[in-house]
Amino acid sequence: MTVVDAENTALIVGAGHAAGECATAIREQGWTGRIVMVGEEPHLPYQRPPLSKAFLSGESTAEQLYLKQLSTYEKARVKFIPNTRVERIDRCAKRVTLSKGDEIGYSKLVLATGGRARRLALPDIESIEKLQNFHYLRTLDHVAQIRNQFHPGSRLVIIGGGYVGLEVAAVAVKRGLHVTVLEALPRVLARVTAPSFPRSTRTCTAKPASTSARMLL
Ligand SMILES: Cc1cc2nc3c(=O)[nH]c(=O)nc-3n(C[C@H](O)[C@H](O)[C@H](O)COP(=O)(O)OP(=O)(O)OC[C@H]3O[C@@H](n4cnc5c(N)ncnc54)[C@H](O)[C@@H]3O)c2cc1C
Repeated sequence: MTVVDAENTALIVGAGHAAGECATAIREQGWTGRIVMVGEEPHLPYQRPPLSKAFLSGESTAEQLYLKQLSTYEKARVKFIPNTRVERIDRCAKRVTLSKGDEIGYSKLVLATGGRARRLALPDIESIEKLQNFHYLRTLDHVAQIRNQFHPGSRLVIIGGGYVGLEVAAVAVKRGLHVTVLEALPRVLARVTAPSFPRSTRTCTAKPASTSARMLL
């Protein structure tokens, strides 16, 4: 498939939160040409925060995570192409090549490709990644697989003691798994929280002229 009307096409690479919002926003703001959104996942744009919380615990379904229904994109005349990766961008020709080999021309290009879980730098990581009980956690499908293996009494090792790792640990403990969290830094949440200080260093006494005040640092 090659889009003929490339002169009039806004192409969004990625179909995450940013892409989903952008697709309808540019229509609302008056873009009259084509809007095409290409995502490598099979899903409509969805919220990731509940993945490690309500979705992992089974309290919400995949559909409940979708930002908007397909009909909303259709109404905004957004063409959504799922399961497809943009492999190459030719900026001179203003054209992208898709994983299925097709090409799409564009006049405006939005890169909304988001982030990925960092790949572990371990020897023979390719073989480890093929194991049935090894998972990265970034997408809805990753969490659906992890959820299927959450059996009470199982042992779970989480690599990474940031928000996502600890949220998963909390859900797993509630489900009766035995959880170990491995963190490379000296403490969990080290990148996002300040260290706690012993009580004696947390308070200081300032003495203004008339009275004394205690200040929590
Ligand atoms: C488990 C989890 C919990 C989180 N919890 C919180 C939270 O509580 N609070 C908070 O503020 N943030 C949270 N975040 C972070 C938040 O979800 C991200 O900031 C947000 O997803 C970023 O949205 P995005 O659209 O920029 O990118 P992404 O959500 O990463 O979406 C990008 C999309 O583009 C696709 N893509 C990439 N390359 C290509 C390509 N070449 N071709 C086609 N498609 C491509 C990807 O497959 C993906 O679907 C969490 C993230 C995770 C994973």
